Amino acid sequence: MSMYLEQIEQLVVLQKVDDEIIVLQQELENLPKELAELEQQDEETGQRLEQLNDKLDILKTQQKRLDDEIEDNSVKIKKSKSKLMMAENTREYHAMMREMDNMDKINRTREEERVALSEELERQKEIGAEITTESKELKEKLEEYRASIKKRTTAAKKRLNALEKQRNKACEVVPKPVLGRYEFIRARIHNPVIVSVIDGVCTGCNIQIPPQIFNDLQKGEQIISCPNCQRLTFWCEHFSADEKAPTSEAKAKENAKKKSEEIAEAKE
Ligand SMILES: [Zn+2]
Repeated sequence: MSMYLEQIEQLVVLQKVDDEIIVLQQELENLPKELAELEQQDEETGQRLEQLNDKLDILKTQQKRLDDEIEDNSVKIKKSKSKLMMAENTREYHAMMREMDNMDKINRTREEERVALSEELERQKEIGAEITTESKELKEKLEEYRASIKKRTTAAKKRLNALEKQRNKACEVVPKPVLGRYEFIRARIHNPVIVSVIDGVCTGCNIQIPPQIFNDLQKGEQIISCPNCQRLTFWCEHFSADEKAPTSEAKAKENAKKKSEEIAEAKE
């Protein structure tokens, strides 16, 4: 394989390695963030549950107070009934009846209140059950996440290490100035840094390469940047047609030879 093709091949390797490194670094950055988010949700659910329990306590106290009042009133009504016979005259009798009527009315109102309160209590209990389920699921998820975060972090770091080694190896093949160009573009332009040129069109920016530059690219002697997007380019025909990435040396050589013959023919 010519030095040129080998360099292109290693640049493509570098590109792949760097793409994976970005994904892994992103993952390493996101893992603790996602954990913090889950912890936040867990805390909020806990607070909601606490607030709901406070509400339930208040409702239960109200219910107890109403029960006591209804009970007290019933006792009073019973007592009044037994006193009724002891009324000394009609006026007193009617007065006692009125009082009993009043207490009855009050108790009926309290009974209605009590029904409304029971309904509200049931409703709040249902909400409480929902929050409890939610909280339980969240805690399980959190537990799982805590257990997996270590594993995932270790795996990502291990893979990053391997990629770093692969990267260093690729960098040994690519000459320093080309590597400098690669890093320069990488820092300034959206991925990818190195792209194929198909039918004279740069696949990085989808713009036609000027014929003279395309000619130079086809010669396969030096690494050429797309004049439009500045990305490093290689001619797709120098490598496998179905993949845009370089493949076997033999195939690349064959393609290059075939094409250079064609170019020679075209020139004649
Ligand atoms: Zn371009």
